[in-house]
Amino acid sequence: MKADRIGLFGGTFDPPHFGHVAALKAAVATKQFDYIEVTVAGDPYQKSSSVQLHSADVRLKMAHAAFDGIEGVRVSDREIKRNGPSYTIETVRELLNDAEHVDLLIGADLSSQLDSWHESVLLRSLVKVGVIPRPGGEEDLPLGWNAYLVPMDPVDLSSTFIREAANLNENLQDLVPDPVIPIFEGR
Ligand code: ATP
Repeated sequence: MKADRIGLFGGTFDPPHFGHVAALKAAVATKQFDYIEVTVAGDPYQKSSSVQLHSADVRLKMAHAAFDGIEGVRVSDREIKRNGPSYTIETVRELLNDAEHVDLLIGADLSSQLDSWHESVLLRSLVKVGVIPRPGGEEDLPLGWNAYLVPMDPVDLSSTFIREAANLNENLQDLVPDPVIPIFEGR
């Protein structure tokens, strides 16, 4: 039987951090989803040229370590298994085989970028967008999209900040879930 509504939370997750954890818990707390799928990007085409990333397998392991304990959340490798760039529209098409409705869950920083995503016009017709407040973008909803705000106190954290902290040998304990640290550090 098809699920009614799935939330899709995609990302690079290099590394997953407490901002992601808070976002997922806030989305689960809305109680509108059969489950939320966390999709780890294989080849994130809008990022791949500028940032040196951990391999997809390592990022998948970190995502499992960070999110497996959250009830109602499933970590997926579907974008890693797919060859080529990670296009959200492809994932949405696949998820619509499993559910009547798919909500795209994004941090508010991405609201202004949605129109540049692959096949954005089609994507806009297929999903509702749940926007997670994030410092910087705060509570920006994407114009022209069927969008709503997920209630949450913003968490001022990014993977970029954590990679920089790690480069300075700073303690990551308050930034990412404990089991993520040895994987991220390659231990
Ligand atoms: P980077 O710093 O490398 O760009 P990131 O911290 O934005 O990474 P991603 O893996 O790119 O993390 O993000 C996955 C999803 O999580 C995106 O929708 C992003 O907007 C959202 N997100 C990331 N950090 C937060 C946060 N602190 N609060 C709310 N949403 C967040």
